[in-house]
Amino acid sequence: MTALQYDVFVTPAIAQSNGTLTLPNGDPMVWSPIATTLIYGEHDAVLVDPPFTTDTTRDVLAWVEKTGRDITEIYVTHGHGDHWLGAPVLLERFPDAVVRATAGTKVHMDATTLESRAEFWDALFPGRIPTAPVTVQVVGKEGLSLEGNALIPVEVGHSDSDDTTVLWVPSLKLAVTGDVVYNGTHLAISESANGGRDAWRCALDQVEALGPEVVVASHKDPASPDSPADIGRTRRYLDDVDRQLESSTTPMEFFEKMTRLHPERINQGVLWFGALALLGDDVAQ
Ligand SMILES: [Zn+2]
Repeated sequence: MTALQYDVFVTPAIAQSNGTLTLPNGDPMVWSPIATTLIYGEHDAVLVDPPFTTDTTRDVLAWVEKTGRDITEIYVTHGHGDHWLGAPVLLERFPDAVVRATAGTKVHMDATTLESRAEFWDALFPGRIPTAPVTVQVVGKEGLSLEGNALIPVEVGHSDSDDTTVLWVPSLKLAVTGDVVYNGTHLAISESANGGRDAWRCALDQVEALGPEVVVASHKDPASPDSPADIGRTRRYLDDVDRQLESSTTPMEFFEKMTRLHPERINQGVLWFGALALLGDDVAQ
């Protein structure tokens, strides 16, 4: 059994090309930085959560190539397109690599391909996302195997969307947490109504119970370490969301309170999007 290693590449915030929504102060919307994790042995590697534009995934590919390892599998933590739409760029270079996700995640990936891709992803980032189809193979509880080491998908239910997972690497005490844990960026709370934040806290408990020493959040401040302390910080942010929603009547009021409480977190745009989803006129909380 090879002793595994891991490395994390953070794609910087990505500017949207299109879209009518801006921040209240008129600033354009950007996509939060995206962390891609490479877990590797002597020859092979498993890559978790590629980004979504062609250019940024090419940067990830160049980083992988420097390690000299071959990607054998690409694991996708959950269905949101920013965690896998760039996969064709990697598959072109590593045609034998298999894209793997749990059955729950695959349903959402398939739905993205069929429904939201044109109206959301290609509308906001026209011409910038690979168009080749991505074939996904379901991985069960047995998980993936990398040079004799187990990599276990843990289904934690709803976090920033439904049917989300983390990839647990026992030999490294490494939890690659997708969007269950956030590190130094505002959280995507737009899907958190109707008990979503309680479910999310439950997902955080499940990550904590693994006893990880390294916690990689898919959306992170590039300067911040990959620390288990972000489990608690994410929980406190959700608690703040609950409290501030209760005392706010407009998206703006909520947004201002949350940015005052969390001035250090990057990408206020994702918070503004959530504020509109939770307190906007046409969507019930
Ligand atoms: Zn997500």
